[in-house]
Amino acid sequence: MNSIPAKNEFAFSGEIGGKIAENIWDSIKSGLILVDSEGKILLWNDWIAQHSGIPAESALNHFLGSLFPDGLAASFKNALRNVLHYKLPIILSNALHRSPLPLYPLPVAHRKQDRMQQSIIITPIVTSEKKRLCLIQVTDATLSIKRERVLKSYSERLSKAAITDALTGAYNRRFFDERFTAEFSRAQRQNIPLSLIMLDVDFFKDYNDRYGHPAGDKVLISVVKALKSQLHRPTDVVTRYGGEEFAIILPDSGSEGGRIVAEKLRVAVSGLNIPHGTSTVADHLTISIGIVSYQPDTSCNATCFLEAADAALYSAKHGGRNCVRHLVTPECGKPCQVDTPQADSPD
Ligand code: GH3
Ligand code: MG
Ligand code: MG
Repeated sequence: MNSIPAKNEFAFSGEIGGKIAENIWDSIKSGLILVDSEGKILLWNDWIAQHSGIPAESALNHFLGSLFPDGLAASFKNALRNVLHYKLPIILSNALHRSPLPLYPLPVAHRKQDRMQQSIIITPIVTSEKKRLCLIQVTDATLSIKRERVLKSYSERLSKAAITDALTGAYNRRFFDERFTAEFSRAQRQNIPLSLIMLDVDFFKDYNDRYGHPAGDKVLISVVKALKSQLHRPTDVVTRYGGEEFAIILPDSGSEGGRIVAEKLRVAVSGLNIPHGTSTVADHLTISIGIVSYQPDTSCNATCFLEAADAALYSAKHGGRNCVRHLVTPECGKPCQVDTPQADSPD
């Protein structure tokens, strides 16, 4: 247990009070250091002795800075100076100052291990003789930081799960609704074009009936993978709109670019060559694609844009499937016009 030098200026209610106080500060599970205005150490409790590897006898009456061969962190020295000068407490939060003091987890024998993560509060104390002292309280923040990290990764996983489709890993409908509203408004505000692709697996009910639901699930995973492989801008993402229907928002893409992407998607899925014995349009699995592209002005609304993409998909389904239909709506509210349909390229 540390003994306080006779000349230190603690006021206790008699000798018993002093002994109890010593017992208390040596028993608490955090570090206590008291220094005078020169940085000379007046109190060095057991916790600090253990975690610094420096016994109280070697610390008391020495200067704090001289105890540590590597010196003290500049932030810590500044904080100490400021506390003495302004007589206000300072917290060295762990977020900004990981390990200001050379303290280590137990045992500290080698000091080769990483420093303990610390939270430090420095409090000014003015004695009855108007002498300024600083009380430095150190707590081990390692556990709370670990807990914080676990919570953070848990909350990140939850946030990701909230916008992800569990089966395919594509973004889900909730994500689509939010992203589409945002991108549509952005296109309106900034006068930039927007393309929206809606696509649907052809004869998927028949596929399930023939090959089983689990095989159908695997197909959806493969389809998403194939779609993703064709999208290279970070903003062009695949979302599962529902069932075997997917939507892809292409921000800042006009009809030319949109059309090229849509055709690449169709070819990529067809290129998977997944046998589909009950499809009437091919001997393998195919998709139909509707795409709408235009620059929405202020009279347009997002629902109209979405309905146009849906109408394009409907047109692709009724135009034979395994094809792309492109709608251009120059003005919202007017009937959608079918752009010159391109010939379906052979797979
Ligand atoms: P169309 O060419 O007109 O699109 O015909 P379709 O059979 O694909 O369309 P329909 O709407 O009749 O059937 C969609 C099928 O998609 C029915 C449903 O069971 C299946 N489906 C939807 N979600 C899933 C899923 O997560 N897994 C599997 N295996 N099947 C799904
Ligand atoms: Mg379908
Ligand atoms: Mg469908």
